[in-house]
Amino acid sequence: MAVLTGKVGLIVGVANKRSIAWAIAQAAAAEGASLVLTYQGERLEENVRELAAELDNPLILPCDVTDDEQMDAVYREISARFGGLDFLVHGAAFADREDLARPFYETSREGFRKALDISAYSLVALTRRAVPLMESRGGGSILTLSYLGSTRVFQGYNVMGVAKAALESSVRYLAAELGPKSIRVNAISAGPIRTLAASGITGFSTILQTYRDRAPLRRTVETDEVADAAIFLLGPAGRAVTAEVLMVDGGFHAMGV
Ligand code: NAD
Repeated sequence: MAVLTGKVGLIVGVANKRSIAWAIAQAAAAEGASLVLTYQGERLEENVRELAAELDNPLILPCDVTDDEQMDAVYREISARFGGLDFLVHGAAFADREDLARPFYETSREGFRKALDISAYSLVALTRRAVPLMESRGGGSILTLSYLGSTRVFQGYNVMGVAKAALESSVRYLAAELGPKSIRVNAISAGPIRTLAASGITGFSTILQTYRDRAPLRRTVETDEVADAAIFLLGPAGRAVTAEVLMVDGGFHAMGV
């Protein structure tokens, strides 16, 4: 049986067909979930609507995670259409290109604030609004996407690494507080994948090649492989897993010299 049949999921972070969040949306739909997809700004609306046409009538709504009113509206619509929410996938991240191109110590105050707000605080903001809708279903599963740059230095990842450290720590604090409500909170730390977000990272090709050379599986990962791990964490198979950062990176994280 499809493992997400009867479940309602909100997926934030689809920009185009290469988005990790899009692969997760496809996998969740294939597992029977009803979906709500959001897009950030009118620029991406058409992309998301075109992709969503492949799915079974998802609800599509605007959501810029820096805009509290838009986030409130998303949850109002979910409540009106479905009356509850079973899972949330958070795949939003942003840092100014300049801050990824210059040395980390030159990060501006505003660049730091923006990266942390969009890439880390937004998980807290979206989770807070999801809690009552998940409680009404007796629990839920929340998943975000991180990268090893949270704990190791990757040249060019800079302020995004700091944001991912805050994101992974937020996962643990949220999981601790929401566990008693049967709401699980986890992250997947994916290996590098060519996406729109990755295009802003200087030296990304070198990072990809290093994974091909050194990861135990001697290759990089694909978005559908991240999506398979996501279904595990979102669905019943992951029911005892929370506060976890699951590495889906071909084993690269284990390697020393
Ligand atoms: P992507 O560009 O397809 O997705 C990033 C998303 O963030 C986009 O949909 C964009 O619209 C959204 N976003 C940015 N600012 C936003 C805002 N203010 N409000 C709402 N949404 C906003 O790239 P991706 O690689 O699929 O990224 C998804 C997640 O996966 C990110 O958290 C990224 O850091 C993480 N990740 C990516 C890689 C990789 O190598 N691509 C590896 C590990 C983790």
